[in-house]
Amino acid sequence: MQKDYYIQSLMDEVYDEYDVLLDDRIKNIKKARETNPNITNREITEQFGEAYTRNDVLKRFSPKLQAAVTLGHLYNQVANGGFYQWDDNGFSENKHILLDIAMIGNNLGIMYFDKLSKIFELVNKIPEYERNMVFYEDVCPECDGFGVDDEGDECGCCAGTGVVEYEDFKDNNEMRARMWDKLDTMYEMLNSNDELLLLFDEFLSRYDEWKDNENVQHWLT
Ligand SMILES: [Zn+2]
Repeated sequence: MQKDYYIQSLMDEVYDEYDVLLDDRIKNIKKARETNPNITNREITEQFGEAYTRNDVLKRFSPKLQAAVTLGHLYNQVANGGFYQWDDNGFSENKHILLDIAMIGNNLGIMYFDKLSKIFELVNKIPEYERNMVFYEDVCPECDGFGVDDEGDECGCCAGTGVVEYEDFKDNNEMRARMWDKLDTMYEMLNSNDELLLLFDEFLSRYDEWKDNENVQHWLT
């Protein structure tokens, strides 16, 4: 993303602040360690709180800046490795914000936000990663399903049933990857010439038109 996009300047604003917070915490911890070299990690957490994640910091900002960072991450991640990468790198943590963005953008009548709404709705419908134990049966490999061994005795492997049961773990990642790929295709149709960045800029520069709108109040609280 080039520097002269409005969305980039808003993202920079957030990250400059993030760096200040992070620097302050590191400085304070360093000072505490100098004063008391035996200070434990638990004491540090008690005194200075948990380490900030970028998302913790993001929550301190206005909805407009949250929208800018959420859209900016989406844009950059999808450009690099598609929605799958965006999710895999943890950015889908803020997928609920996309629904508000879609709603506001749609109300503002910005081009493509009707189609983006569909994409953002689907993003929010893709199931979380799951890994479950599954059971399946197969013909017994010892007796080839006959239930008896060469001497005519009951097969010890399947207890004479001819069938053995296996258990294994299966996850839903393949299904999820397929859904993410579909979203890539939809998204690429809207962004074949990088037009989305300009539309995101329009959305963000007009964002305040909707600051007092009842429909978006829930986001501001
Ligand atoms: Zn058997």
